[in-house]
Amino acid sequence: MIFDTHCHLYDEKFNENINEIIKRCFENNVSLIMLVGDNIKNSKTCIKTSLEIEGVFSSIGIHPMEIDSISIEDIEKEIQDNISNKTLSIGEIGLDYYWEKDEDTKKRQKEYFIKQIEIANKLNLPIIVHARDSVEDAIDILKKNPCLKKGVFHCFSGSVEQMKEIVKLGFYIGLDGPVTYKNANTPKQIAKEVPLDRLVIETDSPYLPPVPKRGEINYPYYLNYVIEEIARIREVESKVIEEVTFSNGKKLFNI
Ligand SMILES: [Zn+2]
Repeated sequence: MIFDTHCHLYDEKFNENINEIIKRCFENNVSLIMLVGDNIKNSKTCIKTSLEIEGVFSSIGIHPMEIDSISIEDIEKEIQDNISNKTLSIGEIGLDYYWEKDEDTKKRQKEYFIKQIEIANKLNLPIIVHARDSVEDAIDILKKNPCLKKGVFHCFSGSVEQMKEIVKLGFYIGLDGPVTYKNANTPKQIAKEVPLDRLVIETDSPYLPPVPKRGEINYPYYLNYVIEEIARIREVESKVIEEVTFSNGKKLFNI
């Protein structure tokens, strides 16, 4: 059984209804799904869907590229008002220096990130961290503002040294489609060296389809390609990766 710990099945890229996609996931060995919000509107959809379907969970948060969608003072109330018993995480939150080059906006991203770590601590929830070209700063923020229930660095794209620091902080490392890309040496290196009890898998669906689905919409049931590649790199049976990442995902979100 597979746990997709990070997907955006509400995305408008999909032609079909979110419930249809989830049904197909269940038919194809993906039995647990974490729907991740990037702003309040999408987080509400995640929460609503998680309440309707067993095996589906939700996360609520403001993505660093969505900080203009809400003022920092309003985040806490919106989260408090919408959260449910199947909302198991705050995220995705963090820093994105790949898309954002403006220094003032980067500073605001940091403020939103810290604010949401504080909210996660009040609610006793882990966080889902998005850190693109900003892993060093994200680690630095988490050292100064620890998250009590820890969390995951999703779609991890940092170095082996950074991975080790993150593991030391008690966080999980999320790997997805890029680990299957031919020239993606860093994710492959991470797949090889990450302690197995710290690894979770995810699709970031509809984005980041694995080989051989590149150029298509990504679905949670394409995770078997990610599992197979990690298993090949680590020289173990696919079943080992499938089972350990399933159980790690449950521990990450306290399921
Ligand atoms: Zn995402």
